[in-house]
Amino acid sequence: MSGMANEAPAGDLRLVDLTKRFGIFTAVDELSLTVPQGSFFALLGASGCGKTTTLRMIAGLEEPTSGQVLLGDRDIARLRPYKRPVNTVFQSYALFPHLNIAENVAFGLRRRGIRRVEEQVHRMLALVQLDGYGRRRPAQLSGGQQQRVALARALINHPQVLLLDEPLGALDLKLRRQMQIELKRIQTEVGITFVHVTHDQEEAMTMADTVAVMNAGRIEQLGAPAELYEYPATAFVANFLGQSNLLAADAAGPAGSEVPVTAHGVRFSVPADRARADRGPVYLGVRPEKLHLVEAVDQVPAGHQHVEGVITDASYVGVSTQYLVRTGWGSELSAFTANSGVGGQHPVGAPVVAHWDPRHAFLLPREPGQD
Ligand code: ATP
Repeated sequence: MSGMANEAPAGDLRLVDLTKRFGIFTAVDELSLTVPQGSFFALLGASGCGKTTTLRMIAGLEEPTSGQVLLGDRDIARLRPYKRPVNTVFQSYALFPHLNIAENVAFGLRRRGIRRVEEQVHRMLALVQLDGYGRRRPAQLSGGQQQRVALARALINHPQVLLLDEPLGALDLKLRRQMQIELKRIQTEVGITFVHVTHDQEEAMTMADTVAVMNAGRIEQLGAPAELYEYPATAFVANFLGQSNLLAADAAGPAGSEVPVTAHGVRFSVPADRARADRGPVYLGVRPEKLHLVEAVDQVPAGHQHVEGVITDASYVGVSTQYLVRTGWGSELSAFTANSGVGGQHPVGAPVVAHWDPRHAFLLPREPGQD
């Protein structure tokens, strides 16, 4: 938007071997990644994996033990927070209760001695769809509206990078979904680099161009949402993003364009270009919505692979029915089938054949002894 146009281009945000130790505990472990300028980037991980510490090092609220935080060619890792072209929106909006909404939004500009702020405040409130709310106090706004004010208050400073630390965590589910779409729209409109921290995989995938999955202070995998979901690199990522059926299997090495594997004495194969590991202990992975159910083996389409089992649970959840299938050797597989009308479901106790297109399967490394 025009208000941002006077800023010099920020360049990419790069973290290089960024490390934070608290005593002997390593919270962030030689983390390196690049956030392209103007992109929406999500740091996704379970509680305690080091997301917030990483964000705080970018903001300048935590000093790195070692490593660099580069914005373009400039190392900002040791600049004071207010010297960095970076702003943060937290889960707790921390609006000033005694100031009205317009004064809250104008706060950063006023502090820098800028006096004619009305035009910019008006534009920011319009951007977050709070036109006409300027004279209200924070307590007269809903949680979602307060979060929008916090966003406007950060964006008015024209940061080159906006950090968002679980900003939607305090909102109920429906509002959170609305705000996710809203945040994505705002990011596209202002074109500022957004780095968003969340433990909610659906939130990260809804909003971000690129998602970095963090585990124990390190990046497990980084990529576009569809890439992470369709082609996870590790069992951790496969399980963290959605549900996965992971069968412990053994691979004997690639044979042509296929990798043959054996699981519980049954032979399967996966295209070589879908194998993250092709020798020794592996997981054969198939997402539940890629697993289809039929009543008999002669209904399995040509080229598909299959296992036989029995339905042990069927949960109707509106858009789909989610089945559990116990295989002959005792593994439990999840299969989601889209519902297009009432009826046609498989009853609990029914024998079924679960089949999949091998091009939708993947192979992942497995530690020996894991299953
Ligand atoms: P959450 O989603 O719960 O906020 P997180 O992924 O953001 O988790 P961090 O807050 O970055 O995790 O914390 C990473 C690890 O570092 C945790 O084990 C935490 O206990 C530890 N840690 C964070 N700050 C400190 C501190 N000041 N002193 C000691 N340990 C800390």
